[in-house]
Amino acid sequence: MAETVTNWAGNITYAAGELHRPRSLDALRELVAGSPRVRVLGSGHSFNEIAEPGEGGVLLSLDALSPGIDVDTTARTVRVGGGVRYAELAREVHRHGLALANMASLPHISVAGSVATGTHGSGVGNGPLASSVRAVELVTADGGAVTVARGDERFGGAVTSLGALGVVTALTLDLEPAFEVEQHVFTKMPLEGLDPATFEKVMSAAYSVSLFTDWRAPGFRQVWVKRRTDQPLPDFPWAAPATEKMHPVPGMPAVNCTEQFGVAGPWHERLPHFRAEFTPSSGAELQSEYLMPRDSAVAVLHALDEVRETVAPVLQTCEVRTVAADDQWIGPAHGRDTVAVHFTWIEDTAAVLPAVARVEEALAPFGARPHWGKVFTTPAAELHARYPRLHDFRTLVRDLDPAGAFTNAFVRDVLGG
Ligand SMILES: Cc1cc2nc3c(=O)[nH]c(=O)nc-3n(C[C@H](O)[C@H](O)[C@H](O)COP(=O)(O)OP(=O)(O)OC[C@H]3O[C@@H](n4cnc5c(N)ncnc54)[C@H](O)[C@@H]3O)c2cc1C
Repeated sequence: MAETVTNWAGNITYAAGELHRPRSLDALRELVAGSPRVRVLGSGHSFNEIAEPGEGGVLLSLDALSPGIDVDTTARTVRVGGGVRYAELAREVHRHGLALANMASLPHISVAGSVATGTHGSGVGNGPLASSVRAVELVTADGGAVTVARGDERFGGAVTSLGALGVVTALTLDLEPAFEVEQHVFTKMPLEGLDPATFEKVMSAAYSVSLFTDWRAPGFRQVWVKRRTDQPLPDFPWAAPATEKMHPVPGMPAVNCTEQFGVAGPWHERLPHFRAEFTPSSGAELQSEYLMPRDSAVAVLHALDEVRETVAPVLQTCEVRTVAADDQWIGPAHGRDTVAVHFTWIEDTAAVLPAVARVEEALAPFGARPHWGKVFTTPAAELHARYPRLHDFRTLVRDLDPAGAFTNAFVRDVLGG
């Protein structure tokens, strides 16, 4: 039966008029083996055509498979099914007294879809979510099963893989003992006087730190500081403590946000900015994000300040985070400690694209790598120059999927010649 399948934001309508939901692994294998072109849709929180199988291709969801969350308390690992979302996973892991090292701002996103795009949270010592992955189980184009585990020479291309290798049916992730976090929000941190040494101190003040600005003025309206209670209480002299609960988008209700004012709570109820039980926003937004070397952070912020008159009118909020280097070949934090600058735009694509282009121009000198799941216009040739291991990823894609069943137009652009 024909249905309209869109992403969460509604800015992408997939050409496939049907979302296939196989009910068993065997049915999934059969569907994949019988389809010349296939893509998986995770929770659909990407903002571009990364999941688009193209006209005549098959779009499938793993929602109807049993979730499969198996925690191994001795090994401190969890094996999780390819359709599971972080909120569900985190609750189960926490029930066993264990934790994931980090989470993104939103717990509603799927694990497989998130690590495929290089999704991350914040923290100078925290790698992207992909850095917790120990093994990936795939169904390949012929319906066969392949597992790629840490230590395998192909592992560097297997986690942040844009969904181009096959259907991820399960992932095994590292865990650690559960911990508590308290969240403090500060307001009005100026950009003026922020030198590289101070930026490092601000971002290292706690386990996870995020700066928010709307670029209507230089400087940051909010700073979110997430402290693990097993780490020292930070001194935070650079901004004033908030006097009321805050949402990172001005005017949105703070009730949707995780607990603030230093009330300690479980890791999974503080590391995301948004509560699992609330819809984070109406979906009336677009997002872009660029990842640059962390030691260029202050220069990056000044370059953005130069273009704020173009950016501010179409911006809801901009978040600055840090991500520790990882070794996924096409991970946006590959090989370099990173500063990530995220933009939540208004939902008007035509109005937003000129601002995206202006930001990309301003950030090009810093070798900006766009977030794979968000809106960007960086030409393919420039993307190639920014990923020194891209050729290894291309080889892996061709090795595991020689007929290109999982290679859509988006992936073709990334792979280049
Ligand atoms: C409100 C909001 C907040 C966000 N916050 C953050 C944030 O804090 N940090 C950040 O870095 N990003 C953030 N993002 C971006 C988001 O994390 C990424 O777009 C992520 O990829 C979303 O996961 P998904 O499951 O929705 O993926 P989808 O958009 O469904 O898919 C992404 C890719 O993964 C592939 N894929 C999905 N599942 C599988 C599978 N089982 N097997 C093979 N391929 C698969 C798809 O084919 C596609 O290529 C946010 C997005 C939104 C809407």
